[in-house]
Amino acid sequence: MDAAAVTSSPSTPVLLPGVVGPSGQPTTLGVMGGGQLGRMFVHAAQTLGYRTVVLDPDPSSPAGLVAHAHIATSYLDGTGLFGLAGMADAITTEFENVPAEALHALAAQRPVAPGAAAVAVCQDRAAEKAHFMACSVACAPHALIETPEQLAAVPDRLLPGILKTTRMGYDGKGQIRVTSREDLEAAWLDLKQVSCVLEARLSLAFEVSVIVARNAAGEVVHYPLQQNLHRDGILAVTTVPAPDLTPALQAQAITAAETIAARLGYVGVLCVEFFVLQDGSLVVNEMAPRPHNSGHYTIDACDVSQFELQVRAMCNLPLVAPRLHSPTVMLNLLGDLWFDAEGREHTPNWSGVLALPGVHLHLYGKHAARPGRKMGHLTCTAATEEQVRQTGLRAAHILGLSRW
Ligand code: ADP
Ligand code: MG
Repeated sequence: MDAAAVTSSPSTPVLLPGVVGPSGQPTTLGVMGGGQLGRMFVHAAQTLGYRTVVLDPDPSSPAGLVAHAHIATSYLDGTGLFGLAGMADAITTEFENVPAEALHALAAQRPVAPGAAAVAVCQDRAAEKAHFMACSVACAPHALIETPEQLAAVPDRLLPGILKTTRMGYDGKGQIRVTSREDLEAAWLDLKQVSCVLEARLSLAFEVSVIVARNAAGEVVHYPLQQNLHRDGILAVTTVPAPDLTPALQAQAITAAETIAARLGYVGVLCVEFFVLQDGSLVVNEMAPRPHNSGHYTIDACDVSQFELQVRAMCNLPLVAPRLHSPTVMLNLLGDLWFDAEGREHTPNWSGVLALPGVHLHLYGKHAARPGRKMGHLTCTAATEEQVRQTGLRAAHILGLSRW
């Protein structure tokens, strides 16, 4: 999709922090979604002097708990959306599955960044891949499966493959690995025959992601690439600088991400995930129209965080090129850590990890730990890449996480 095809919000004025805005209040920023990404956005906005309002149906959502105001309605509730547009001078989103209709309704009243059209592309794996191809960025060979005929016509070269639902997948959910045509048929049934994309299973050497921020004037800045290790489809460890990446691949990924953002007319923070294949080539995987789990390290290891850039982009404030001031390792803290080998709940050994120099603990304020649930993360910083790796490994050992 070209920028010209993107519906635009009311043009964003420069929204300075801490001044009285059109609502008679200090400038207020709104966010759709109250998860941990929304919470860290709220923290960044508040640091800059903005008021914040969160819309999320969960009365104890992590972002709702720390915002100035929390509207606890569903994302499509007219009263909730009206309330959000009434309070907020500009609105952003913290998860990609926010209904496009809700963003359209908000955009009629307030500047919304990223825009509904860009978010819609990211919500749909088929549209996303079409956009990557339109940008001449290589993605995995794939086929759309919406009918039994399309299922039968799948070419052999896509097997073994991964069948992924076109919409609503995240953290490895909504995808099944298949080897044969029989597997494929069974998997599509398992996924209730919803619209799917079958991707050829590629031989990955490792995975990286890049985060860019772009404003309405088309200025774009980026972070260094993150190298990401996933376990059971969920991000487990992020290392920056990416230890296995060549400068040439780094430059290729940054150019690709900037093109992908520009051709969406994108305003905000965008994360693009890539595979580096065994043959050394770069293949784009997917993108997220928001700050990303692999960018949490930017709070502690960079001079401007991905959440502050989200604020700056939506408020039309200057974007500055971020600088990594420390090598870093980020460990995700999933709910599994709250359970011992017998399944009894316990508190992870925070004193142990906090005794390590250069450890920054972030907990999201979620009340109940469940296996696989993202409860927090831990960022390690140190003077050298070797030292930070050692700190990360020691923290992992103390918490009972696997080595990498
Ligand atoms: P999600 O939206 O759940 O993050 P992804 O498409 O990123 O879904 O897939 C999750 C993980 O599965 C990836 O990070 C990668 O490790 C693996 N994976 C996904 N697609 C492929 C593929 N085509 N070939 C090999 N591995 C893949
Ligand atoms: Mg992914």
